[in-house]
Amino acid sequence: MSAVVIVVHGGICVEEIPDVFEPLYRACILGMETLQSQEAVDAVEEAVKVLEDDPRLNAGTGAFPNLLGEVEMSASIMKDDLSCGGVAAIKNVRHPISVARAVMERTRHVLLVGEGANLFARLLGFEEYNPVAELTIRTLEKSIAKASQEKDSIYHYYLKRAREKLRRLHLGTVGAVALDCSGRIAAGTSTGGVEMQLPGRVGDSPIIGCGTFAWEWGGVSMTGEGEGIMKLGLARKIAEWMEEMSAQEAVNRGMELARRFGVVCGAIAVRKTGEIGFGECGGRLTFGYFREEMKEPHVFPSKS
Ligand code: ASP
Repeated sequence: MSAVVIVVHGGICVEEIPDVFEPLYRACILGMETLQSQEAVDAVEEAVKVLEDDPRLNAGTGAFPNLLGEVEMSASIMKDDLSCGGVAAIKNVRHPISVARAVMERTRHVLLVGEGANLFARLLGFEEYNPVAELTIRTLEKSIAKASQEKDSIYHYYLKRAREKLRRLHLGTVGAVALDCSGRIAAGTSTGGVEMQLPGRVGDSPIIGCGTFAWEWGGVSMTGEGEGIMKLGLARKIAEWMEEMSAQEAVNRGMELARRFGVVCGAIAVRKTGEIGFGECGGRLTFGYFREEMKEPHVFPSKS
């Protein structure tokens, strides 16, 4: 029997730290309940779905609209046998992580994008769902006001349209990594992307090896500046380092690399031995974990 554990994150914050204690706590509880009878991949999907449903988090319901006021979401999921799936720039689904899992289990592909991902979701019976929530608008309006001041900005073209459509505001990407009692590991990540993103922009979250990675030595889910995370291939590096070192040491090494290149990011990791790792660079990571022997999940920042 292996150690049973789930770690979840709710993104990295550079400015104000949101109060996301409650969804992280609930995601840990549901993830652990799932691990009692199902596999790591089921726990990851269930935990990420809880986080996708919370409008305070930038994934699923609550995902940031792009500069045309449209929500394009991305997600990926991976098991330690290297099976994996992802969707990028998908619209109008409630749980992108579940569509990513369907790509893994029902197709021979790893990643579906845009219209193709939308069509796939519809064909499989995922219901049409509007993920725009009331909360998103305020943050976005502030950012738009700031960008409008900049002369000759590329954003002017988009802002006019965005103003007509945008309805709310942000927070963090979400992710989960779990180890089940048979020693299987899985990791998953889901996002609405970054605030003020151009239509069509895709970050690290749906890209295997960048936002998510799992293999025999461990699993990782990332958050932060997708462009930098992709260039460094951080999820894969951290996961591979776990062959030689503890989960915490591997995450620390990943954060050192990120610091060297000025990449704002955070990571959660689980090693096959059951240890966990978490780290942040340039911001504050919101996360939680729950081990079978603990009375309740530990969530950071803790309840104020
Ligand atoms: N990594 C995500 C992206 O670049 C954003 C985030 O984690 O907040 O799309």
